Amino acid sequence: MLRIEADVILTMDAARPVLRDAAAVVEGKLIHDTGDRAEMAARYPQAEPRGGPGCWLLPGLVNAHHHGGVGGGSWHKGVRDIPLERHLMRQYNWGFYDGQAPYARLNTLMLSAQLIRSGVTCVADFYYGDDSAPYLGAEHGLNAYREAGLRAVFMPAARNRFSPDNGDLQHFLTEMPPDLASQAAGLIRQAGFAAPEAFFEGWERTRRDFHEPGGRIAVGIAVDGPLRCTPEYLRALHARAAQYGAPFQMHLLETKYQRMVGTTETGGSLITYLDGLGLLDERSSFAHGIWLSEADMALLAERGASTVPNPSSNLRLFDGVAAITGLLHAGVNVALGTDSFGFSDDNDFIEEVRLATLLQRQPGITNNGLSGEQALALATRSGARALGVHGQIGSIRKGGCADLVVLDARRMLNPWISPLHDDPHEVFWRRARREDVRDVLVDGAFVLQDGALVTIDEAAVSEAMRGWLEGVWRMRGAETEGRSRLLDRLEAAVIAYFRRIESREE
Ligand SMILES: [Zn+2]
Repeated sequence: MLRIEADVILTMDAARPVLRDAAAVVEGKLIHDTGDRAEMAARYPQAEPRGGPGCWLLPGLVNAHHHGGVGGGSWHKGVRDIPLERHLMRQYNWGFYDGQAPYARLNTLMLSAQLIRSGVTCVADFYYGDDSAPYLGAEHGLNAYREAGLRAVFMPAARNRFSPDNGDLQHFLTEMPPDLASQAAGLIRQAGFAAPEAFFEGWERTRRDFHEPGGRIAVGIAVDGPLRCTPEYLRALHARAAQYGAPFQMHLLETKYQRMVGTTETGGSLITYLDGLGLLDERSSFAHGIWLSEADMALLAERGASTVPNPSSNLRLFDGVAAITGLLHAGVNVALGTDSFGFSDDNDFIEEVRLATLLQRQPGITNNGLSGEQALALATRSGARALGVHGQIGSIRKGGCADLVVLDARRMLNPWISPLHDDPHEVFWRRARREDVRDVLVDGAFVLQDGALVTIDEAAVSEAMRGWLEGVWRMRGAETEGRSRLLDRLEAAVIAYFRRIESREE
């Protein structure tokens, strides 16, 4: 039994939001009790004391959209950012990831270390693996989460249709000069996603062997994008998630081009289209959701669906800024993710909370932006709700899972806090930094203790990653050089293609 003492506990529980001079008692995997520090010490003298003066305690943070696996930001650290559609063509559509599934373990461990250090205890992994493998390549990522001790809502991604949404280039090949099209066709990844029957087979196997009811690993379903599956497949995927009570997540309206293409293909709003297919409900969360209309927001709120903006990624890929204040005003549950594209290539989730909050400060005399409580709710309670794990985590309350973050608040409070300050949530989102995170517990077990990772040998993982990536680049290097001229021509074609779509709307 542990008794974690803190000057301030930010519970994220509406009944008792802030406890001062308090303690939380952990027994096994659960929060057994919370209350006044002296009272807890008297009631549980046998519990091992942790925390202490100068410490703050808060619920573990929830990164509600992320990619471990073989995708995400790990391959091109330090590379100049470009708009999403150009980025996808350069980075994703050329078979670069084929045969790399075992590397998913290393990548997932490396990213998990970064997330744990910034107070994340639960991550939604929208997983791109290897659909030809029996577990869709998911076992590499899932085993890494088991190893890391991080809570994971793990969702293998499905796709069975090629469309320009998300910048897939199959459609646009038909609009370019034939000589370029035939060269490009050889480059662009045309397959790699399982047919629906094979996906369901692999998913069922993964769910059967890795899902832990009430435990740290939940297996759900991800959909690459609304136009990247046929309508029948979308319905079937959602029905399968519903059958198992599993979470369901989709990339949606990340760029204005996706909205334009969506209008062309469905004759209206993509949200209305998805609603017509019965896909909007409380188990559904939509990553990004930047280009939503007010009517879209109202419908999402009515159906109880969630959105998950990813501020770093959205800025890095020139997507735009999600209207979090507008979404909250409409009554939509809003969570927060990194998309594995932390601003400094570091997936610092505390920095992500700060960025998300500051980006809501649009000019306007009536604009109040987000409160500190709303800011932290994005990263805790609302994230848990978006992923369907709000029964377990997202706040500090008796009987909840002991997913906790102990901050050493001394640097944060130095040299002074105004006596006018009355809300520690405001102090947290503005002043906290990753280096203030002292302990992180998942299910009552330390994954970070006194600032040191317990479950991951970060230096060894980094070294192995470097070796692996250097090997891949050696193998691919010659090809890459040979491709660069073609890629430049293709990029120009992508720009022209989306400009044409844009000019039709103007
Ligand atoms: Zn994503």
